Amino acid sequence: MRFAPSPTGMFHVGNARSALFNWVLARQSGGTIVLRIEDTDAARNRPEWVQGILDAMEWLGIGPSEYEGPLFQSDYTQHHREAIDRLIAAGRAYYCDCTRDQVNARTGSEYLGYDGFCRSRGQTVGEGRALRFRTPDEGSTVIVDLVRGKPTVDNVLIEDFVIARGDGSPVFLLANVVDDMVMGITHVIRAEEHLPNAPKQQLLWEALGAEPPVWVHAPILVNEKRQKLSKRRDRVALEDFRAEGYLAEAMRNYLMLLGWAPSGDREILPWDDIVTEFRLEDV
Ligand code: GLU
Repeated sequence: MRFAPSPTGMFHVGNARSALFNWVLARQSGGTIVLRIEDTDAARNRPEWVQGILDAMEWLGIGPSEYEGPLFQSDYTQHHREAIDRLIAAGRAYYCDCTRDQVNARTGSEYLGYDGFCRSRGQTVGEGRALRFRTPDEGSTVIVDLVRGKPTVDNVLIEDFVIARGDGSPVFLLANVVDDMVMGITHVIRAEEHLPNAPKQQLLWEALGAEPPVWVHAPILVNEKRQKLSKRRDRVALEDFRAEGYLAEAMRNYLMLLGWAPSGDREILPWDDIVTEFRLEDV
């Protein structure tokens, strides 16, 4: 398993919940967690946020002996480049120089997505271009998700999405998959906001010749009005709760009971009981 935060800000309580789910499931199954810092967004990363992740995890109880790493996405650039080269060589990716306006003008809509115009134009890497993955025209992609069931998407509905920029550097969708492949990840446990990425990412796993992982998309955290937690409106930083004096045990207990409940009327229970009783199937 892996926990793969981006060091771009305070430690979000949703991240804390994903980390806890990984931790509990690793303990239950005898699995190993890799901590991967996804630090390839150079404009938004800061070293102090990396330290913030390590500190927040340790405070929660997930100290350095509980995971492998931290490993840094930026150390895997060579693997990303190789994957990109393989996809191009296999005819599964192509460079495109269309602007959004040109695509919209051709399809007559701003909602239909990319129309495959550059599929056979044979363009190479270059400024102002993007590398697109050529999605299959037929069949469907079935996500095996231990929380969501088996979401299925017709491949024809998945546009040829961008996997690298004009300078050849990968975008999140690709780097995240390649790292998971290289690190031997079998279970991807993360927040539901990434569920729409899963079919695309599974196509990449398949195109790169690997067995896709089992997916676990944990339900989104909401505020009292059932709105998705927002940095601007709601309190979301674990560090803030800590500074206010909340105990780590209380945060862990509370976060684990969002989307899951133990049997009976119990709301506060020993951590060991949570680890034993938690069942992903009941999330
Ligand atoms: N860096 C991504 C995030 O923090 C990782 C998503 C994932 O777990 O695949 O949202």
